[in-house]
Amino acid sequence: MIDTHSHLFDESFQNDIDECIQRCRLAHVNKVLLVGFSHQTNSLVQEYASKYELFYPTAGLHPSEASLNYKLDLDRLEKFIKEHKVYAIGECGLDYHYGKENIEEQKRLFRGQIELSIKYKLPLIIHMRDATQDTYELLKEFSGQIFGVMHCYSGSLEMAREFIKLGFYISLGGPVTFKNAKESKRIAEQIDLDRLLVETDCPYLAPTPYRGQRNESSYVQYVVQEIASIRNMDFKRIEEITEKNAVKLFKMEDRL
Ligand SMILES: [Zn+2]
Repeated sequence: MIDTHSHLFDESFQNDIDECIQRCRLAHVNKVLLVGFSHQTNSLVQEYASKYELFYPTAGLHPSEASLNYKLDLDRLEKFIKEHKVYAIGECGLDYHYGKENIEEQKRLFRGQIELSIKYKLPLIIHMRDATQDTYELLKEFSGQIFGVMHCYSGSLEMAREFIKLGFYISLGGPVTFKNAKESKRIAEQIDLDRLLVETDCPYLAPTPYRGQRNESSYVQYVVQEIASIRNMDFKRIEEITEKNAVKLFKMEDRL
């Protein structure tokens, strides 16, 4: 299995990162996309990736990093991408959950990262919260030039299909295991399997039976299990399909 979205560098893992990695091995989670979201975490991700074989690094600027300095921030990110191996740009995107005061800065920071993804032919990891329409419209401007993943997707099945048309994969995380997550379960059941990825977004959003606790990459097995059970398919089959999709999208063959 591949956890396509992990923040195992979070300080909540600092005392047991080796055990967490061991549990990944035991659960057959043999690749983990380690996702940066700020200048500081982008560097941290590189440190972890050089230390642990399991990790595949990304670099990006989360919408919460958006400020009037977006131009300087984008220049710094581009310099970073040129100097380091990264498998994707992100996470980046739009987040209106805490208000819309800096909507213009968010859009500029996002647009700049879309342009970098085109320039460097890298997939995008999209964070989208309470901003489906604006995210869709911005991405649509670059239709035909972009590809990537809608991370921890929580929108409708219909919109998921629109994002797929724009070149994106749909990644499901812990919430698909929650009893009340009707739409996520509908997506798990009906989405084109060639476009499905799995993730944890750890340390957040732990799946059942760990809901509310610290999440970790090995728990991606519960996401795979839930999708398999919803589709009435073998665990092994969903594992293979989602792993193949991730290797293809992020071009992970070079370290197979
Ligand atoms: Zn994340």
